[in-house]
Amino acid sequence: MSTDFYETLGASRDASQDDLKKAFRKLAMQYHPDKNPGNDEAEHKFKEINQAYEVLRDEQKRAAYDRYGHEAFENAASGGGGGQGGFGFGGGGGGGFADIFDEMFGGSAGGRHGDATRRGSDLRYNMDISLADAFKGKTAEIRVPTSVRCDPCNGTGAAEGAKPVSCSTCQGAGKVRAQQGFFTVERTCPACHGAGQVIDNPCSGCQGQGRTQKEKNLSVKIPPGVEEGTRIRLNGEGEAGLQGSQPGDLYIFLSVEPHHLFKRDGADIYCRVPMAMMTAALGGAVEVPTIDGGRAKVTIAPGTQSGVQFRLRSKGMSVLNSSQRGDMYVESRIETPVNLSRKQRELLQEFESAGKGRSFSPESESFFSKVKEFWADLKD
Ligand SMILES: [Zn+2]
Ligand SMILES: [Zn+2]
Repeated sequence: MSTDFYETLGASRDASQDDLKKAFRKLAMQYHPDKNPGNDEAEHKFKEINQAYEVLRDEQKRAAYDRYGHEAFENAASGGGGGQGGFGFGGGGGGGFADIFDEMFGGSAGGRHGDATRRGSDLRYNMDISLADAFKGKTAEIRVPTSVRCDPCNGTGAAEGAKPVSCSTCQGAGKVRAQQGFFTVERTCPACHGAGQVIDNPCSGCQGQGRTQKEKNLSVKIPPGVEEGTRIRLNGEGEAGLQGSQPGDLYIFLSVEPHHLFKRDGADIYCRVPMAMMTAALGGAVEVPTIDGGRAKVTIAPGTQSGVQFRLRSKGMSVLNSSQRGDMYVESRIETPVNLSRKQRELLQEFESAGKGRSFSPESESFFSKVKEFWADLKD
């Protein structure tokens, strides 16, 4: 086997699609089995030319070939050619290539066999949960409008007693072949849509579909630690497939509602706690709520300012698939007293004059002395 598809076609690596086509046509004419009856070498060469052109004619495949090299394609080529004995020339190679390209580009391998149209659809279900539920996990009962396997016919689509019979169009293969120029191409059978069987006497409950519309009740387990956008996949809980084919999957898309007390950042939780000026000035303690429903005591040192964070270790969110917990951060927000009585106002005035000569607001003193310097520098 040649080591390079460009060589096989006698074309340069930067050949245009037009040039490749011309080169292919010329060689294909030369080595076509009809022109070389009984010549094994010509037949082999003809296969090679087809395989090479099959890849290079497709811009996407050609780019992948240039990038991944010949080896990535060689296995597919020999697998497709050798494994499907008797099946046309170009098509056999193409079958093998489809597999490798599905892997490279993430396509669905099922499509080639017609299953893609018979498999049930995947379903999406959007679910809002509270932050507390995201913390502890929950089992949610949901109702999903979907289609389920038809009971009377057990999903076959055939009426009771009747059995699906082999499709006469494709002789049960599910695919048909057609000649197109030099090539034999394979398609999903239009009569049975790839099933290989047809139903003569369809089930009246599902009109031969093997599935019926129904609301399904499901109980979904949501593990602790899920986040906004977490997807939970329920295998096979999507729409039922046609006539007993594979069902689709159900995806639960989670959205976590904002909480009025807590803010989440990954595994950590933030809680802003207003503190009375007196507590902040004299010191004391505040009791704060935690996401697990409990309470925690935070000791406030005398002279605590706004914006100070107190860390409560392992009081944050649960972490998905782990027994660990994040931390909780309590952030102080000192509240200036309002609605003062006359007596309170007098006391505060007295408080201020009693402190004359003491530095009880060092931050503002420092700030305003810097401001003075700034203005003084401007004058120079
Ligand atoms: Zn039925
Ligand atoms: Zn058929």
